[in-house]
Amino acid sequence: MTDFTDAEVERYARHILLKEVGGVGQRKLMDAKVLVVGAGGLGSPAALYLAAAGIGTIGIIDADTVDLSNLQRQIAHTTDRIGMSKVESAAQAIHGINPGVNVVAMNKRFDASNALDIIKDYDIVADGSDNFETRFLINDACYFAEKPLVSAAILRFDGQLGTYKAYAPNEDGGHGPCYRCIFREAPPPGQIPSCAEAGVMGAMCGVMGSLQTTEVLKEIMGIGESLSGSLMVIDGLSTEFRKIKVKADPGCPLCGENPSITDLSSHMDSAGTTCAAAHG
Ligand code: ZN
Repeated sequence: MTDFTDAEVERYARHILLKEVGGVGQRKLMDAKVLVVGAGGLGSPAALYLAAAGIGTIGIIDADTVDLSNLQRQIAHTTDRIGMSKVESAAQAIHGINPGVNVVAMNKRFDASNALDIIKDYDIVADGSDNFETRFLINDACYFAEKPLVSAAILRFDGQLGTYKAYAPNEDGGHGPCYRCIFREAPPPGQIPSCAEAGVMGAMCGVMGSLQTTEVLKEIMGIGESLSGSLMVIDGLSTEFRKIKVKADPGCPLCGENPSITDLSSHMDSAGTTCAAAHG
């Protein structure tokens, strides 16, 4: 059933040993297709651990090139790859770890014009974008495409992590929240500083990207307790981890009882072009 080569048995031995994973779980990982939006601070550790875990296909989308200022935290990239597209650099890192992974490197912006077309090819989405416009776009697109979303965010020493699958009914007939149930809409540009403006502790990107990847792997294998319905808030300065219960909001404009968002048109600007970008 699981049908591994000798090299695969050896490579994934420490996974297969876990009774919650085993050969069946490892096979699910090897059959899975994961989309990583952003090849930056979060997308870097996510891509590396997804590759190490043996994910069959990793799609990665980002329009940026590797810059010297990225290397303090974006660990998929290296000094000798400055100037290379981030997705090509990430693809090299992924293949360096695990040549068996199929990488779909998309050197472009993730925006409202391509979101649904890209997402449909994947089983689950990891959001490692660095701006609110993209974050809300991914939430809406994943809801419409009915794909689970594991969304991580980071600023300064603080991290946040959630799993959203509001399209899926719970046993009680309700459903978990989407990102908009908690945050409703993007703050006006400039209200919340970006990492470029406020700074970010590089190692916290590793913490959050690794936790995010753990949740992605759990969702693929269907093991443990889904983070859906909870929000993890992490304060790296005080080393405090808090898990907050979050519920679906019946007034949510996306997944509520009377939704006002029924497609991705609100993510297009008045010229009909898209206004969201993933920088990572
Ligand atoms: Zn919602």
